[in-house]
Amino acid sequence: MKAVLFHHHGGPEVLEYTDFPTPEPGVGQVLVRLKAAALNRLDLWVRTGWPGIKLAYPHIPGADGAGEVASVGQGVDQWAPGDRVVINSNLSCGECDYCRAGMDNRCRNWQLLGETVRGTYAEYVAVPAGNLYRMPEGFDPRAAAAAGLVFHTAWHSLIRRGGLRTGETVLIVGASGGVNSACIQIAKLAGAKVIVVGSNAKKLELARSLGADELIDRSQDENWSKQAYTLTDKRGADVVVDNVGTTFPQSFRAACKGGRILTVGNTGGPKFEIDNRFMFSKHLSLLGSSMGTHADFAQVMELIFAGKLKAVLDRDFALQDAAAAQEYLASGEQLGKVTLTINGTTPVSEILSLRGQLQWEGDLDSLRGQRDQ
Ligand SMILES: [Zn+2]
Repeated sequence: MKAVLFHHHGGPEVLEYTDFPTPEPGVGQVLVRLKAAALNRLDLWVRTGWPGIKLAYPHIPGADGAGEVASVGQGVDQWAPGDRVVINSNLSCGECDYCRAGMDNRCRNWQLLGETVRGTYAEYVAVPAGNLYRMPEGFDPRAAAAAGLVFHTAWHSLIRRGGLRTGETVLIVGASGGVNSACIQIAKLAGAKVIVVGSNAKKLELARSLGADELIDRSQDENWSKQAYTLTDKRGADVVVDNVGTTFPQSFRAACKGGRILTVGNTGGPKFEIDNRFMFSKHLSLLGSSMGTHADFAQVMELIFAGKLKAVLDRDFALQDAAAAQEYLASGEQLGKVTLTINGTTPVSEILSLRGQLQWEGDLDSLRGQRDQ
């Protein structure tokens, strides 16, 4: 098969598009012929590496993917060749105490596709049968792949960990990015009021198009927690979604008494100071999580396939152009998910014109037009 892989950490230049043996599906596994993969920031971190990371080289990146079943391994009877599927990238043992309790994203032997094992930047990938979810006929594999990790993560954080309830106010720090875009939609679907803090007008416009009720442009006023306070009639937000980290001081201020701060990442860096006085005097809860459970994946993908939630799609690249796709993601220019088309009939890169690539039905085209001016 063709795959994109690397033999050592480094910049996008370490990615090679080359031949690699097609995996054999093991016992309980399914071989998926991929139609699309979606990029995540994680792919960039895995490529550049971090202290302690150990990869079996050559490594194939990519957590998200969708396609069809090519063949099944021994003991698999729920899938057959030709079935259309989307992949849950969270690999759990199914046997440890966490797995048995249904908290499989805390599995003691937890692995992630594309991080600890070879991933989806390839024509084929072998995954456990239980990590597949059926994709309806006619559903765009790009849209399914792009939804996977970010909606799964957002659903687990907001609904499972955050216990979001109808009528609550959710403040989301960051107007674009896959998880934030997912959080806006999930919070609206749950019946919450959504306030979004963004760094520029275009990102905020995207947030508005996804359903955000109130927008705060922090390029106009860095003290956004005060604005959030005003917008909630000096009560504060019930839930604050903060995946920046360095913004915790403002998030603590913007939360109501008894508020919950949810975090699944730290795009602003891993270390920062917090003022503990806010934690106890305001009865705050800080709730961290990573990815989601099998049950979360099934629930959120059902909503994706029903059209109630939708990944924002940005540019698409051919598999062989994965390095360019990663560079585009690293540039921060994108407003939605960057995807790879795999096993396609036409190399998309050859016909790529930005406007033609945008399949999302919202205002991304007009937003980009504004930015280009
Ligand atoms: Zn386990």
